[in-house]
Amino acid sequence: MALYRMRCTSCGFTQDRRIAATLDPKTFCTLCEQEARPVPPKRGQEIVRTGDDWVGKGMELRAQMARRAARVQQDAPHAPTLRPNVEGEEVGSWAEAARLAASKGLDPRPFTRMAEAQS
Ligand SMILES: [Zn+2]
Repeated sequence: MALYRMRCTSCGFTQDRRIAATLDPKTFCTLCEQEARPVPPKRGQEIVRTGDDWVGKGMELRAQMARRAARVQQDAPHAPTLRPNVEGEEVGSWAEAARLAASKGLDPRPFTRMAEAQS
């Protein structure tokens, strides 16, 4: 298993997911069930430095935090923490996420559904 930061190709919702390590990681969006793909590395981060694991230190740190979060969540394993974000840009509410997605030309409906589910 490996930790990937996966981004939905339809609505842009981004979430760290533990899935089988592969050259072509693919999963489905938690919100809208469309295909999610790994977030491409930022410019300058695509260079693999000697001594660094290919996932990089940031990913390793996120993995550690995810493991800690998983331990904390052990008594509620089916309640993942879903933080409202669009393409990794965190916002204060699902309604805000819907507006941001629409402004980016992404599908805002999954965020609208989350906002309605909370009200
Ligand atoms: Zn989605």
